Amino acid sequence: MEIEKIDPDISLLLEKENLRQQETINLIASENIVSQAVLEASASALTNKYSEGYPQRRYYQGNDNVDDIEIIAIERAKQLFGAEHANVQPYSGSPANAAVYMAFLNPGDTIVGLNLSCGGHLTHGHQVNFSGQLYTAVNYCVDKLTERIDMDEVRRIALNHKPKMIISGLTAYPRIIDFEAFQKIAQEIGAVHFADISHISGLIAGGVHPSPFPFCDVAMTTTHKTLRGPRGAIIFCKQKYAKQIDRAVFPGSQGGPHDQITAAKAVALKEALTEDFKLYAKDIVANARALADELITRGIKLVTGGTDNHMIMIDLLPMGVGLGRPTAMALEKAGIVTNANTVPDDPGSAFSPSGIRIGTPAVTTRGMKTDQMATIGNWIASIIEDPQNEKLQSDIEQAVKELCANFPIRPGLVYN
Ligand SMILES: *Cc1c(COP(=O)(O)O)cnc(C)c1O
Repeated sequence: MEIEKIDPDISLLLEKENLRQQETINLIASENIVSQAVLEASASALTNKYSEGYPQRRYYQGNDNVDDIEIIAIERAKQLFGAEHANVQPYSGSPANAAVYMAFLNPGDTIVGLNLSCGGHLTHGHQVNFSGQLYTAVNYCVDKLTERIDMDEVRRIALNHKPKMIISGLTAYPRIIDFEAFQKIAQEIGAVHFADISHISGLIAGGVHPSPFPFCDVAMTTTHKTLRGPRGAIIFCKQKYAKQIDRAVFPGSQGGPHDQITAAKAVALKEALTEDFKLYAKDIVANARALADELITRGIKLVTGGTDNHMIMIDLLPMGVGLGRPTAMALEKAGIVTNANTVPDDPGSAFSPSGIRIGTPAVTTRGMKTDQMATIGNWIASIIEDPQNEKLQSDIEQAVKELCANFPIRPGLVYN
């Protein structure tokens, strides 16, 4: 490859990263493994192109092919989710959320979203993020007893604060979101209902999670999580909001779209429209359940006691405060890659939280099934029970390598 000659340092690190991904079990709930076709589109000559504007309304010449590609991506996005309008240009989830807010809100307006420590995203109004600085953010959390979102509580907060926008969506919450209930509350107070489906869009596309359509005014998804596409995002909205969304993306908050990523989004959307993808989505959820069951059997506490989606939140508080990071580090030594995360009402901090978030999108893409989930669940439980045991970690690391060799990440990977 050319890169070996031009830049051996980066080339070597890319090779090392390939090997790391091959030889470890990736349980990061927001990550996935894209197909070779998606990789090829995102590494294409479209990287060289500028195309500010929208199809047939560009500020640069030479955009005939880009126009065709973007139109295909838009049509597939609308078809997959049953949405009236789609904007496929957002660079990623956070800038897409900035555009959504810009389209509907003025600085100082009130938004209501799920608290970060209860499973919401930074961009849902956290004070360290633009969303909490530009807008007046009010948060809802989960019920103390059930650890689930309590729609009566959401309604109470909404009636109290009369927000201009209510955000439904999660980044660390293992249960179904009731979009219809959110819509009812939003309608009651005349607020915009914004569904941030970044984590669960692949499950929605695959028919294993209820859809926010037609129960929202606007929705956003990242394309690189369960949807299994390139890094980026798509915004959906009702036709009556199409102009204000498009304007908020360009020229409101972005310049030239990343056309190579638009092409890769189109490819990923085509893959997501197949019957195979529905099986994939089903397997993601079945795998998450199997993994959760194994952990529960081994006496590990899970937030809400289980999962409905692709994600499991392990609660380590019974063993002490702030154990998330050291446990995630011990798991990494054993070849199991996760992230530390807060649990509801976490007495630890965001950097030193008391839980671990795991998810099954990437291992399911590799073809692993419920048998493998039981094995992995057992390993995780053993490490949680004995986090200082280095012999245990290296034994599991060896077994992880063997398991991974049986489920290789192949260049031509197509899920089946
Ligand atoms: C991942 C995520 C985002 C942000 O996406 P980035 O591409 O990381 O900026 C926004 N909202 C939710 C709910 C997410 O899960």
